[in-house]
Amino acid sequence: MPVYQAPVRDSMFLLNEVFGWDRYSNLPGFSDAPPDVVEAMLIEGAKLCEEVLQPLNHSGDLEGCTRHPDGTVTTPKGFNDAYKAYSEGGWIGLAANPDHGGQGLPYTLAGIINEYSASANMAFTMYPGLTQSAIAAIEEHASDELKALYLPKMISGEWSGTMNLTEPHCGTDLGLLKTKAIPNGDGTYAISGQKIFISAGEHDLSGNIVHLVLARIEGAPEGTKGISLFVVPKHIPGDSGLASEINGVSCGAIEHKMGIHANSTCVMNYDGAKGWLIGEENRGLNAMFVMMNEARLGVANQGLAQSEAAYQNAVQYAKERLQGRALSGPKQPEKPADPLLVHPDVRRMLMEIRAFNESARAFMMYASLKADLARRSPDEKQREEADDILGLLTPVLKGVLTDKGFENAVKAQQVFGGHGYIKEWGMEQFVRDARIAMIYEGANGIQALDLVGRKLARKGGKTVTAFFNEVAASVKDCSADEALKPYAEPVGAALGDLQKATMWFMQNAMAKPDNAGAGSTDYMHLMGLVAQGYMLLLIAKAALAKKASDADAAVWMDAKILTAKFFMERILPESAAHLARISSGADTMMAMPEEAF
Ligand SMILES: Cc1cc2nc3c(=O)[nH]c(=O)nc-3n(C[C@H](O)[C@H](O)[C@H](O)COP(=O)(O)OP(=O)(O)OC[C@H]3O[C@@H](n4cnc5c(N)ncnc54)[C@H](O)[C@@H]3O)c2cc1C
Repeated sequence: MPVYQAPVRDSMFLLNEVFGWDRYSNLPGFSDAPPDVVEAMLIEGAKLCEEVLQPLNHSGDLEGCTRHPDGTVTTPKGFNDAYKAYSEGGWIGLAANPDHGGQGLPYTLAGIINEYSASANMAFTMYPGLTQSAIAAIEEHASDELKALYLPKMISGEWSGTMNLTEPHCGTDLGLLKTKAIPNGDGTYAISGQKIFISAGEHDLSGNIVHLVLARIEGAPEGTKGISLFVVPKHIPGDSGLASEINGVSCGAIEHKMGIHANSTCVMNYDGAKGWLIGEENRGLNAMFVMMNEARLGVANQGLAQSEAAYQNAVQYAKERLQGRALSGPKQPEKPADPLLVHPDVRRMLMEIRAFNESARAFMMYASLKADLARRSPDEKQREEADDILGLLTPVLKGVLTDKGFENAVKAQQVFGGHGYIKEWGMEQFVRDARIAMIYEGANGIQALDLVGRKLARKGGKTVTAFFNEVAASVKDCSADEALKPYAEPVGAALGDLQKATMWFMQNAMAKPDNAGAGSTDYMHLMGLVAQGYMLLLIAKAALAKKASDADAAVWMDAKILTAKFFMERILPESAAHLARISSGADTMMAMPEEAF
């Protein structure tokens, strides 16, 4: 059976030694979370993930969700109790607004818990995860009345949330959506249409399900400019706020899919269902983007989470499985063979995953801290700058962490040889579960286009330049230190490649947009490499300093330093290949005539 241990020590090291948690104590919610409180909270969250959620991961995958003839859906055995423990523990509303019953703690902490929880059980985590994203959209765009009605119950977990964008004929191109909203004349709307692939669309975990639905008000313009956002509850709340009257929305089917079997992916039929407008008419995509951006960070976390869980299992297996002898001579001559871990090629796979996990965890935390600054800083300029960087890096986090998360699940499966292909070991589940993260919340190709087509040009390139300057300043600072130079120089070189690629787009993609499209995925990964290299530079710096001041921590810090070195030597040089591909442009791929495919 697969194992999982939440990396609490790693999270605490990043918070305290790398990012300097104390520096944020002026922000609301941070003063309630000094390091000792944070550590106790993470240990508590880790316990829930390790002891309650993880044991349900494999059984939930085998059992899946069941739709009954009346349209109701049952989740796998144990999920109800786990959901109760999760919501009663206050984990859904950890970072939510205290005015509505949230704990108001830093978003960064919620991000850490979400990683642990998605490692332990990704399919389960999506139920509260979508609720958290729906809470964010309601909080930012709904009227005070809707907020008062929905938020307390969603924050407590009594009610859960969903996100309804996709229709049979449109996923990426939402401008095509057909779901209709007809005014009822009393301020509400009658919503009709079909949504597909709706995660957590119907289930038995919460007393009500609050659907956030994109629809077109009768007479609204075609395309994305005519889309509005509605809240459509499964049960319409009565005067006392209790869920009572059944609404005209039902689950027509659940999809049979590759992974995340324990999460119900539903076809949702809306048949004149009563809905309430969120935000302004025809500005629905704008409001939905709050939910999508929040959810994209959650999905990025899923990539890291699956990579981490798969890694832990692969390491355990590589230490136990005896096969062949070390190239340098037997390491355990008393045994019939040496463990897999002696083989450089097995170590290559494990080190590649490990280097990714450590840098991706730091990258997530870096972005989460920007989210906290963007929402909570008293300084308007700081809020704006943090929000800009977060906007720039969100597609990079989503695209890179999920592409690599899947690759790493496959690599960890490879460590198991044939046993990785057999269900009972659990490795093929990591692969199947990780795969969807590359597709939903905007397929990764779309994340890359968002980065290159929209985010780079924002504010005349000021945001991306600010990010480059931040990395360059760190490279310069660390290059002055002989001990850090071997880590700083490769990051400087990769940053140089990224700057050249950016310049190449400026010179070649304005007049010929296919050049941007052809290089976008490479660019996204190139930026991911630079960001992760930057994170490992900060980690190496913090680890060297900690090692010098705390002899007891030396062994653990040495492992961090080695991991950073491995990344600089063996992963970061990929930046040159990305640059070469980007600079080759679109001509060759676009030259192939359609009939030749
Ligand atoms: C298990 C699961 C859960 C889901 N959960 C939800 C949910 O909760 N709510 C919800 O609303 N949706 C959900 N989805 C839907 C998901 O978000 C979409 O499937 C996804 O956004 C892609 O849309 P599509 O499937 O229509 O693919 P398409 O839009 O047809 O895209 C197909 C491919 O073409 C590429 N492509 C499309 N347009 C372009 C372009 N202009 N330029 C370059 N490449 C392009 C895409 O990157 C993709 O690789 C879920 C899907 C699944 C499978």
